[in-house]
Amino acid sequence: MSIARFWRETGRRYNLGASRCTVCKTVYFPPRSVCPSCAQHRRSLGKLTPLQLSGEGEVVTFSIIHDAAEGFEVQVPYVLAIVRTKEGPQLTGQVVDIDPKEVRIGLKVHATFRKLREEGKAGVIHYGYKFSPTTGPDDGPGRPGRSEPVAATATAEAGPVRA
Ligand SMILES: [Zn+2]
Repeated sequence: MSIARFWRETGRRYNLGASRCTVCKTVYFPPRSVCPSCAQHRRSLGKLTPLQLSGEGEVVTFSIIHDAAEGFEVQVPYVLAIVRTKEGPQLTGQVVDIDPKEVRIGLKVHATFRKLREEGKAGVIHYGYKFSPTTGPDDGPGRPGRSEPVAATATAEAGPVRA
């Protein structure tokens, strides 16, 4: 990708700006101005509205990359995944903050903005979205932010006092 095109697209890469056809409800990312599904009827003209993707989604498929592209060498091995957002569009991105061996299909993730790579000695740094595991009800015990383990500890400590 050229530098000029990169900067033109930087805004929506940062904010996951998409568009939705108000006729058939299809969501497009990157955003489109005409809906291909409705185009033959010309019904979609002027009917697409901006939509902000939440960045929430789940892993559809992934692969673990051991041979990095130039500029990505320091990050191997890393996980490259296709994530289906809850709004519909599928995004490709790196999955971070998790052991590559623990990534699985169906893993709930959310987009987060990170440094993508540095370019040459000039140190041009590209930023974009990556995906990080989402902490939720499906997560196992012991994750930060869950209250149950704390309550269990309090009960255990209370036992000896009463006895
Ligand atoms: Zn449409």
